Amino acid sequence: MKLPPETPLGTLPWISKPRLTALRKLGIESLGDLALHFPRRHEDRSRFSRFPIGATADPVLIRGDIVKVGFLPFGKWRRGFEATIQESGGDALSGQVVLRWFNMPHISKAVSVGFSIVAYGKTKLRGRKVLMDFPDYELVEEGEGEGEETLIHLNRIVPIHPAGEGVSAKKLRELIYRALQETDLTSLPTILPGAQDGADRAVAIHDIHFPASAADLAAARERLVFEEFFQIQALLASRRAEIAAAPLSAKKTNGRLLAVLSEQVAFSPTGAQERAIASIREGMEAPSRMHRLLQGDVGSGKTFVAAAAAMNALESGCRVALLAPTQILAEQHWRTFRKWMEPLGIQIALRTGTRSEALAPNEPTLFDTPVPSPCPLPEGPQIVVGTHALLYGDVTIENLGLIIIDEQHKFGVMQRAKLANAHPQADILVLTATPIPRTLAQTAYGDLEVTVLDELPPGRGKIITGVRPASKLNDAAKFIRAQVEAGRQAFIVYPLIDESEKVAAKAAREEYEKWCVELTPIPCGLLHGRMDTAEKHSTMEAFRRHETHVLIATTVIEVGIDVPNATVMLIENAERFGLAQLHQLRGRVGRGAHTSYCILIPGNADPDVIDRLRILETTTDGFAVAEADLKLRGPGDILGIAQTGLPPLRLGDLSKDASILQASRTLAQKIFQSDPTLAQAEHSHLRDWIQRRLTLLELADG
Ligand code: ADP
Ligand code: MG
Repeated sequence: MKLPPETPLGTLPWISKPRLTALRKLGIESLGDLALHFPRRHEDRSRFSRFPIGATADPVLIRGDIVKVGFLPFGKWRRGFEATIQESGGDALSGQVVLRWFNMPHISKAVSVGFSIVAYGKTKLRGRKVLMDFPDYELVEEGEGEGEETLIHLNRIVPIHPAGEGVSAKKLRELIYRALQETDLTSLPTILPGAQDGADRAVAIHDIHFPASAADLAAARERLVFEEFFQIQALLASRRAEIAAAPLSAKKTNGRLLAVLSEQVAFSPTGAQERAIASIREGMEAPSRMHRLLQGDVGSGKTFVAAAAAMNALESGCRVALLAPTQILAEQHWRTFRKWMEPLGIQIALRTGTRSEALAPNEPTLFDTPVPSPCPLPEGPQIVVGTHALLYGDVTIENLGLIIIDEQHKFGVMQRAKLANAHPQADILVLTATPIPRTLAQTAYGDLEVTVLDELPPGRGKIITGVRPASKLNDAAKFIRAQVEAGRQAFIVYPLIDESEKVAAKAAREEYEKWCVELTPIPCGLLHGRMDTAEKHSTMEAFRRHETHVLIATTVIEVGIDVPNATVMLIENAERFGLAQLHQLRGRVGRGAHTSYCILIPGNADPDVIDRLRILETTTDGFAVAEADLKLRGPGDILGIAQTGLPPLRLGDLSKDASILQASRTLAQKIFQSDPTLAQAEHSHLRDWIQRRLTLLELADG
């Protein structure tokens, strides 16, 4: 008789009290939880690598006998510990590898001479020694891996589970092995509809831990990744169904206002802009709500597309709100919109924390020969530009028909839902300058339709990117001087250290002083997040007006700043940024006709770091950069999948599992199309799960 999965671990004699507490910390309370505690990776311990004789690019799995241990003698490694191992059953050719750990005192208690050990990690060469720092390791006990029954830790593909204090990966493996034997895996709940294939799934759950072969593992993984993705896609599909179900009167436009606007701007739209404008117009004219993401690389001209969408809204008689993440950006949009739209008699108000104005009396309209508007407009101001606070404050915008959110990748699915619910009459257009790989877009932004701007306006100067060691900083300074003397401007950016804007501000201030001396007599400006808004504003204005020639900044500069005369972007400690973020920063230059330069200076000479940064030397295509970033760092780091409000991925990998994602998305869509409210009995599991999940998310949201 197998036990039901909900059996609490406390009722089992083979789990001790302290172990129970340790497991609880990992969120494991029942037999089923143990079965669903998936491994983070596997090791094929049926065959080990030969001992490497040099550095390895990828981790290797080796087995050896410990022949010597010791503490590392001096200096800052005082708390280091090392174990020298000899290849088990080795021959004349086999060498030794030194495993090293730092600041992990407990290791010296367990790892001692005479034991056999399995170690997994990358090696490097120091002198003639082959070192493996911080290996994943496991001691092998006498007789292990020999009898049939103990075939858990050796001579097979072995799971490595996320472990915790008081319960090692090895212990977990034993517990899970036993749990899988004793649990009725076929009755583990699933939200997959019509999951009559309980037996299949039970096999998958077994095999994800203890597969008999690589093929079994792959099959199990595919089955479970599908389920994992399906959860997310079902959640997103429910959001989409809800939005589509909200009736919204179609916005009738005939493009007259847009036609007049197009004459105001100094360029003709790119093909990509035209396509995006058309699809957005279609969305707004449809009788259901528009909820759309406009994705485009930096400088692809999203602002004009947003302006075009605003024209549709105005023409159909409603007002528009445009939200930017920072005040500087809000003001920049406000200025651009005024330039383009004031001649049409459109009033644009700016509402940010400190500035609140429609047409400030001391700022003359930028044009004095207005063009008569081709259609009646709502009473002004028709467009309100502000930061996100705008929609949370007590400001009400009557007859709000379109909300445009610019550059907002810190906005999760639930926050968008909240915003959408608070303004049920408005279409929503989200602009993002982070090109997002398709799989990620379908996850983090899966509640939105996606339009891509895949073309840059013509006449852009090219951007040359170079990774340079810190020792070349002098040359960089000379280069900046030359560019400034030729009439150009430059950015010098410092990363947020320790996640604290306070520290970064200090660093930037110190560097600013150094640069002022270095570049004398070139006027420099300083911009960081710790400055008050008025200061930030005047610094930015001075740079924009070319009164300062070099701007030293923290990443407040990152999004959206548009100063076409700037041609140099120097980034120090570049390794602290993700590639996507560096690409963003780089997008601050190359906006005019001049050739621009992006100089990346890593804080150390780690070859991995340099290789990663070098990717930016080879491409200026944001999508290529984003794909590379996704592969290298995983999705969490690009967008912070935690911030999206979606369940975290435990097995699925957005850079590898695109086709499984597609399949799960298709299934979720099919279900919601046939049964939008999940009323059918076969979907009741799914409905309950989504309800619970949404409640959780709302709670988490405060
Ligand atoms: P982003 O997509 O990064 O927000 P912007 O909307 O700020 O880009 O556009 C970048 C620059 O390109 C702006 O100066 C804008 O006026 C200009 N621009 C936009 N569309 C075109 C176009 N079709 N042709 C030429 N320049 C354009
Ligand atoms: Mg922009």
